[in-house]
Amino acid sequence: MTDTPEALVRRMPFHAGRSRSVATPIVPSVVWAAETPDDLDRLYSEPGTGYTYGREGAPNADALAARLDALEGVCGGIVTGSGMAAVTAALLGCLRAGDHVVGGDQLYGRSLRLMAETLPSLGIATSLADPTDAAAMAHALRPETRAILIETVSNPTLRVADLTGIAALARARGIALIVDATFSTPRAIRALDHGATVVVHSVTKLLAGHSDVTLGYLATRDEGLRTRLRTLAVTMGLTPSPFDCWLAERGLATFALRHDRAETNAAALADHIAAQPGVARVIYPGRPDHPDHTRAVALLGGRGGTMLSFVLTGGRAAANALTAAMPQVAFAPTLGDVGTTLSHPPTSSHRALTPEGRAALGITEGFFRVSVGIEDIGLLTADFTRGIAAAAAVS
Ligand SMILES: *Cc1c(COP(=O)(O)O)cnc(C)c1O
Repeated sequence: MTDTPEALVRRMPFHAGRSRSVATPIVPSVVWAAETPDDLDRLYSEPGTGYTYGREGAPNADALAARLDALEGVCGGIVTGSGMAAVTAALLGCLRAGDHVVGGDQLYGRSLRLMAETLPSLGIATSLADPTDAAAMAHALRPETRAILIETVSNPTLRVADLTGIAALARARGIALIVDATFSTPRAIRALDHGATVVVHSVTKLLAGHSDVTLGYLATRDEGLRTRLRTLAVTMGLTPSPFDCWLAERGLATFALRHDRAETNAAALADHIAAQPGVARVIYPGRPDHPDHTRAVALLGGRGGTMLSFVLTGGRAAANALTAAMPQVAFAPTLGDVGTTLSHPPTSSHRALTPEGRAALGITEGFFRVSVGIEDIGLLTADFTRGIAAAAAVS
């Protein structure tokens, strides 16, 4: 069950007669035939003994779930068709009409949308609070609060949540703590070991790592909740496609290598960008000038992560000049790809906010977020030197 990420390269062979396949086969069948009604009865009443229908469970989803379970040190994790499917299942599994949930105030955009629109439409009250401040979270709790949803590291300001403080609060009040650990990954922290009731990942990002699937994952050590989550995922049709699971399993084999290389690059690139003229600020949890550096060291095992943000002194014109001068780095609002990608929150993830709302978060027109990839660091620093110089020339 518990394994190191490096163990992911060990094959999980499928046996066929006297030999076995080294690579995991793709099994596209969504329909499975049983021998007799007695056998079918057993298949339904004893989960894990075989397959019936694709939405209920399938071999490639199970193979991927077993890999992710090993990373998180848990069993019975559920793979879903997207990260948002996993967030949705976690919330609906812990909440019912009349309940209240507190979310972090810098959640992923679609998670904020769930809090603002979807959950209230189902009769679930929501509010937001600062996840770096357990006292602020405590203040937001109500007698009917049944769940807290936070992210380990927030987007795009890369603030590190006070997971220890919030977990203690949730435990004391009997509230489910749902932790979206997409940005930190199980390589930096196993949220269930730090008091999370449910851990959630967008597998789409670093875990799969190649921008060719959307997938999610959620897991809990609470058996009753696990059954509820699985039933929800199956009933609501949140289950994934076999081919996507196969691609993600293949991507996962190199997860540890990709993660460590990207993280080494990110630390070097953060220092490099900070030294360029025309840069007002660099945000990287691995740097001592990050507001949550001490917590990042304590909680994330000293890992700074693969994401960094920086702020140009110039405005939109400088931002336009920067992306135009470095076409080798994909200007795309995603993260976790093997290649470095650059995003501009004011025109993408945070465009729905007012300029004042963005300013309160420190997201000005010169704000960029970088998902650092595994390229040669010399190429990367050259790209950013050129982009930042072009930005400085127009400011
Ligand atoms: C991308 C992301 C999600 C949603 O995942 P999808 O696979 O795109 O549905 C949820 N949380 C975080 C932190 C993310 O970065």
